[in-house]
Amino acid sequence: MDQPEIEAVFVDALQNVAESVTELVGFEVAAISVVRDDSHLEMVAVAGSDSARAELLGRRTPIAEIEQELRSAEHWGDLLRFVPHERMTTPADQLGWVPDLVPSDDPEMWHPLDLLLVPFHDDEGELRGLLSVDVPTDRRRPAPGVRSHLQRYAAHARRSLLTGLERAELAHRVRLADAARKIVRQVSSELSIERIVSICQPAVTTGFDAAGMWIQTFDLDRGGGDAVHGATEAEIVVAEEFKVMGRAAAELLWQAQEVALVTRDTFPEIDGLTVEEEQKARLWEFMATALEATSLLFVPIGAGQECVGNMALTRRGTKDEWSLAEREAALEIGHDLGHALKNAQTFERERRLLEEVRELASYKSRLIATISHELRTPLTAVLGHLELMESARLPVLVAGSMQAVQRGAQRMRRMVEDLLVLSQVADPSRVLDPYPVDLAQVVEDVLGLLDVTLTRQELTVVFDAPDEPVRVPGDVVGLDRMCTNLIGNAAKYTPKGGTITITLVPSGEMVELSITDTGVGISPEDQERLFEEFFRSSDPEVLDIPGTGLGLAIVHRIVEQHHGTIDVVSAPGEGSTFTVSLPAKARPV
Ligand code: ADP
Repeated sequence: MDQPEIEAVFVDALQNVAESVTELVGFEVAAISVVRDDSHLEMVAVAGSDSARAELLGRRTPIAEIEQELRSAEHWGDLLRFVPHERMTTPADQLGWVPDLVPSDDPEMWHPLDLLLVPFHDDEGELRGLLSVDVPTDRRRPAPGVRSHLQRYAAHARRSLLTGLERAELAHRVRLADAARKIVRQVSSELSIERIVSICQPAVTTGFDAAGMWIQTFDLDRGGGDAVHGATEAEIVVAEEFKVMGRAAAELLWQAQEVALVTRDTFPEIDGLTVEEEQKARLWEFMATALEATSLLFVPIGAGQECVGNMALTRRGTKDEWSLAEREAALEIGHDLGHALKNAQTFERERRLLEEVRELASYKSRLIATISHELRTPLTAVLGHLELMESARLPVLVAGSMQAVQRGAQRMRRMVEDLLVLSQVADPSRVLDPYPVDLAQVVEDVLGLLDVTLTRQELTVVFDAPDEPVRVPGDVVGLDRMCTNLIGNAAKYTPKGGTITITLVPSGEMVELSITDTGVGISPEDQERLFEEFFRSSDPEVLDIPGTGLGLAIVHRIVEQHHGTIDVVSAPGEGSTFTVSLPAKARPV
């Protein structure tokens, strides 16, 4: 059953009770009203007289007024309260409906302004409803017999009313909890705070029958600059002093696991928070003018021990009461939102960090590229002149120095070339435009280019690949560079007469390329740092072999760019195997 259905059943039950009173107890009119919020009674059932029904149904009476009357009432048993017309304080024209009876001075007779009431209190002593009866059928003020008869019906009416109210309250809670759950379901996967707020807002404002909703998120990293999100209507500018107060209040309320209610002229007591009278006045003014609200439910938002924000829900005019169920549900939403916001904040922080790292990496690449370019031109000139001088007849001593200079310049050129390549493959702003590349063909080409070196080193090369092309989506220049560096290293670090075995196998969704050599091998400590820029083994045997320490760093970047992985298995003196795994299919963008 939904809320309106439950309400209809409840009102029907009360109408039945009222009708039984008119039919069986001896009164022409019986009416039942219910406490709708903390300050009013609403008439929901009227039986007996059509004119009374038309006049009274839906009528709202301040509880204070009824309580005032009850104070002067005669107690007839523990439930019935009789207010003879002469004691009544409410002016007759405010009673709503007065029976058309001729007043009599006889104290035994019922006076049209007499009131016979049965207030219904719950087990906690709270007033929850009221039964009033009028016009006894015998026109006499009820005698003890009639009173006890009425009393029995009244007890029955009280039970109906209290169970009905309980059911309605439960349904209300379910409705709110539903809205809350809906929010959690929808927002827990949302990673931007703005999205969380925009999704929650309609659900929460509907669920709570609120006029507006605002969420303040605390900037947990920087302490200040908290942001306020959302408003149902125009954007609201919230003064810094309210943000500071909101944060302090939310943190205290989160510790106490409570919500707080601000109305036009009341301010909640929050343990540990002192607010100046002028500040309260400014807040009330802000509520009345900017928010156009008569009440504001203030809810802390948090996760675990940490309070991450607060939510303000506003109401206007007659709807400004917040039931206990609503307050509890609002606090639950504070928990749900807390988790979602915390997720979003962590995500946002990581994203910012990643962006900074990328920015730094990009800057580094640009710097390396610029320096390498600047070095390349003079180096080319140096090497050109050295070549020219080779043909000149030079004294032996000078020729020896010249060769040393040439070796040094060539090393520098290799370094500059490698740095240029590294700056390109390490630049995060460079996006790969994948194209199917036959890796078998790439390996064949690289072997062709390295043929002289391989022959000079007397190395045996075994290349094992399927007959058909083995394609991977990628950049042919990068993949060529990757194979050159890996096969080049195998050749460089394998003594004469050794063997290099290359295998290329499609394996499920991946393609595996392995390069195994029978060379010097790599120690476990060195394996850990192998892919770092400028890393070279400290092994003196290896250090004699020229190198820049950039080759594997470049390979690593290229493999990453292709969404692949690289592994090494090696032992000193026993050779090494480098295995690259690349996806066989392009990833969806
Ligand atoms: P470079 O070869 O220019 O020094 P690399 O980045 O290609 O730079 O390699 C880094 C270090 O890793 C090398 O100095 C060498 O010590 C070690 N290394 C790389 N490949 C092999 C291999 N196949 N066998 C033995 N050691 C290797």
